[in-house]
Amino acid sequence: MKVFKRLDDWCLYRKSLGSLNTIGFVPTMGALHVGHEALMKKAIDENDISIVSIFVNPLQFNDSSDYEQYPNTLDADITMLEKLGVDALILPNEQEMYAQENKYMIAAEHPYLDIFEGAHRPGHFKGVLTIVLKLLNLVSAGNAYFGEKDYQQYRLIKAMAEDLFLKTNIVACETIRENSGLPYSSRNKLLSKDEHLLAEQVSKMIQQVNSQTILSIKQKLLKLGIKMDYLEIKDNRVFSAIKINAIRLIDNFSLMGADQC
Ligand code: AMP
Repeated sequence: MKVFKRLDDWCLYRKSLGSLNTIGFVPTMGALHVGHEALMKKAIDENDISIVSIFVNPLQFNDSSDYEQYPNTLDADITMLEKLGVDALILPNEQEMYAQENKYMIAAEHPYLDIFEGAHRPGHFKGVLTIVLKLLNLVSAGNAYFGEKDYQQYRLIKAMAEDLFLKTNIVACETIRENSGLPYSSRNKLLSKDEHLLAEQVSKMIQQVNSQTILSIKQKLLKLGIKMDYLEIKDNRVFSAIKINAIRLIDNFSLMGADQC
């Protein structure tokens, strides 16, 4: 696997690929797990060349301690990507990604912008859309893969790509879950064993939510002492953000049956 730490090296390689190959791209923040792996497998299966980026984007963290404690498992990530057969990894640095004195940020208007994560993490989606647009421009992929685990993010990126006439097709991948139903997440790595067990218990309760059960499940979670930023239904989909001590975990699922991949 080729590893690019500098953007000019990346751009030379990208030029060498020309336009004959189809390119599949998976942007990530690292601390890779089975959920990420599913996106990469799809990118490998559906394209000639597969590209992954790892960049923990400071602009999308509204909480500096969340940014500082974000897990970093780069050596294990590289081993995983090599085993999977990913062709190239881009590891950009902050100086290069945000080099300009004048910063250009994506301002969006969309029904999914100011609710749930948008309401609880001010500036989060502005940071996400800005970095994703930069990465999509750098990679010029035919297909880019995003998880439904971050459903709001997926919807906003898909709408941005359409609205700005980007040439990359935005592909959704279903949420990959542990046996308990808890979605795989980089933040799970920050949970102690007991916290992980509690997260599984809470996840099982949240998966029982529908329009009839939502109030009683909210009460049960409050009784357990679980702090909730939100637990709501919108567009036949359950959205949740809860805290296990200091670790904030989000989830969502469709009430209409299987999510698409
Ligand atoms: P992150 O590294 O958390 O920014 O995630 C990179 C990509 O992986 C995003 O498109 C996420 O939605 C996706 N992702 C994260 N966790 C999962 C999961 N459990 N199942 C499927 N996709 C996921």
